[in-house]
Amino acid sequence: MEEESGECWIFVEHVDGKVKRASLELMAKGREVADRLAEKLSAVVLGWKHENVAVELTRRGADKVYLVEHPLLKDYQVDLYCKAVSDLAAEFKPDVILFSSTFVGRDLAPRVAKRLKTGMTADCLDLQVDEERRLVKQVKSSLGGNIMVEVVTPHHRPQIATVKPGVANPTINDRGGIIVKVRPSLDEKDVMVHVVDRFEEKKEVDLEGAEVVVAGGRGAGEEGFKLIRRLAELLGGEVGGTRPAADEGWVPRERQIGQSGRVVSPKLYMAFGVSGALQHVVGFSKAGLVIAVNKDPEAPIFECADIGVVADLREFLPVLIKELEKKLKG
Ligand SMILES: Cc1cc2nc3c(=O)[nH]c(=O)nc-3n(C[C@H](O)[C@H](O)[C@H](O)COP(=O)(O)OP(=O)(O)OC[C@H]3O[C@@H](n4cnc5c(N)ncnc54)[C@H](O)[C@@H]3O)c2cc1C
Repeated sequence: MEEESGECWIFVEHVDGKVKRASLELMAKGREVADRLAEKLSAVVLGWKHENVAVELTRRGADKVYLVEHPLLKDYQVDLYCKAVSDLAAEFKPDVILFSSTFVGRDLAPRVAKRLKTGMTADCLDLQVDEERRLVKQVKSSLGGNIMVEVVTPHHRPQIATVKPGVANPTINDRGGIIVKVRPSLDEKDVMVHVVDRFEEKKEVDLEGAEVVVAGGRGAGEEGFKLIRRLAELLGGEVGGTRPAADEGWVPRERQIGQSGRVVSPKLYMAFGVSGALQHVVGFSKAGLVIAVNKDPEAPIFECADIGVVADLREFLPVLIKELEKKLKG
């Protein structure tokens, strides 16, 4: 195993000079990991004329920011980004590199891992640390989502993982970090993929940043979802759903929560007519208060709820909504 620098790296994504929320969350999680490994936390920013992004990251827990600038890095381009990150890692030998499980992170991380001849764990739901062995425990679901596993990389460096958005809440943590400017050696001839067109993706719902999420499952039905939407509106929250609810079209697919959907960490998570399958529960395991309403007293959701109500949601929700409406009016 090659000697590493004792740094935990976060690959940071940014748009129009603003750091993406998923990267801010990963900075917060990375800080925890670095502290437990007694390592430095370094952010890696690629682009062109983005010093403001580097400065922002010094306020987000970074001890060091590698600001990798080149005109060819102005927009994301997989070949160039892969070369720039891999060359940087080959030079500075980080112990850990974390990417978000976003379009860019998923595209880039396996290619970087291949170049550095190391492994990669995809779509982690959490990261823990084995301090004694100085390993990152990369927590993810496996075997069709039926079990949770911890993956470690004992023999190769760096340890590389992609981590699903929602893993932590962004924090402000100014450690007076330093900015190291790097000019990568890049050439147009390194480009193997050519961008022929660009279009703006439809704005996604910010479920990861929501403080309140009101979710429904198969038990809610179409009518139940009308009530769920009203409750979410009254609480200033977002609506979420289980996979069957999305399959039925009661809630848009982009609002599906769970292993194959989004991972949320609201202060309040309410679940109506949700059984509590592991594949759904992993999607809100970082939530603050969890309230579940289910008519089956044996439903597994009650095991992970702070407050459980055994009731028919079609009777319970109209009463709750009426009471809230009265309170908010008064
Ligand atoms: C690889 C894989 C990935 C998956 N990914 C996801 C994922 O990302 N997200 C996800 O959600 N699922 C996912 N699933 C599916 C998951 O295993 C469960 O099947 C699903 O979460 C169950 O959804 P549900 O709770 O809505 O439905 P059900 O399990 O059918 O539960 C419905 C619940 O509603 C209750 N109920 C019914 N009527 C009422 C009423 N009137 N009032 C109160 N309660 C009522 C019932 O008692 C029951 O507990 C995945 C599965 C696999 C294999």
